[in-house]
Amino acid sequence: MASVIFQELAALLNHVKQQTSLHAGYPFNLNYDYKQLLKFFDYSVINLGDPFIDSNYKVDSKKFEKEVLSFFAELYKISPEDSWGYVTSGGTEGNLYGIFLGRECYPDGLLYFSEDSHYSIPKAARLFRIPSVVVRSQKNGEIDYEHLAEMLQKNCHLPAIINLNIGTTMKGAIDDLDRVVDTLEKNHIQNYYIHCDAALFGMMLPFLADSPQIDFTKPIGSVAISGHKFIGTPIPCGIVLSRNYLIKKIETNIEYIASKDTTILGSRNGQAPIFLWYALRTRGYQGFAQEVKVCLQNAQYLFEQLKSIGCSCLLNPFSNTVLFQRPPEPLVEKWQLSTMENWAHIVVMQNITQETIDTFVNDFRGVLLSNCA
Ligand SMILES: *Cc1c(COP(=O)(O)O)cnc(C)c1O
Repeated sequence: MASVIFQELAALLNHVKQQTSLHAGYPFNLNYDYKQLLKFFDYSVINLGDPFIDSNYKVDSKKFEKEVLSFFAELYKISPEDSWGYVTSGGTEGNLYGIFLGRECYPDGLLYFSEDSHYSIPKAARLFRIPSVVVRSQKNGEIDYEHLAEMLQKNCHLPAIINLNIGTTMKGAIDDLDRVVDTLEKNHIQNYYIHCDAALFGMMLPFLADSPQIDFTKPIGSVAISGHKFIGTPIPCGIVLSRNYLIKKIETNIEYIASKDTTILGSRNGQAPIFLWYALRTRGYQGFAQEVKVCLQNAQYLFEQLKSIGCSCLLNPFSNTVLFQRPPEPLVEKWQLSTMENWAHIVVMQNITQETIDTFVNDFRGVLLSNCA
């Protein structure tokens, strides 16, 4: 009996190992070492409710969660006292939270998002029953500012809840925050809330000189960042950051957990903040800056290599997401590529080396040649 269980586990482990070595399509950094943290798995580390309020359940990691949040507060230029946030179960929960907060601030608001937005945004609209406007995208995946202006003008009597993509999933495009704020002002819309979906790029742009500035010195309400994407963690997680005074609008007291109900989930993963804390402490600001630099260089390398074999492709500024014509199915499967219509992409993360890129481009060249023959 026991040996069967071990065999099944060994087979699964083998599968996971193998697939990890041949993965290129999703924006997950698979390069990390958290062995030092294994001991924590002997415990039910759970953070109940608000990270800033101690609950009666004390097998928690809220101290580390708060340290993670203050790192992000600094990165996003808001003082820890003025900010509020928590470690989420992933980018989706951060987006749900941001949109929810927007709705709580403006119950009669309209939600605007571009057609290149992540599917969690229309999901938020459905869950919270927020009437929404889908704005067209430009070819490169960025929101179409003229269409946005037109829609805002048409609905200028209503508050605007806006989702901005700071790196779209498929094309790695960044919506221009300053231009959108400008458009709101031109249309005399004073009641607005901007949520930034920065799942992947949220951990890249702050480390790049000359990149678009997305931070709380500008009129944004919230930003959501993934933990298992650029940072890389063995369990999905994320960070959502907002302004303290906005949270006051939605909090309610829950007596039996002796806390405030400010988070979407009640019992939250207490292991996740430990992974994030460890990653931030061991790699540090300089470490991340270096990783971002290398990823962008390698993305440029992949882009050039694909062009050189006659493949049509696209690489947006400050992006590590290389979009190209969809290769035949066996290649899509082998490299676990994410595809959309006639397009596929590779997100050049820390585990995608120039060697991996060369192997992939060689595979692709082989296919192109055999198609011509
Ligand atoms: C990955 C991603 C998300 C969140 O996805 P999760 O699977 O919930 O982590 C949200 N927005 C964008 C743009 C993404 O790329």
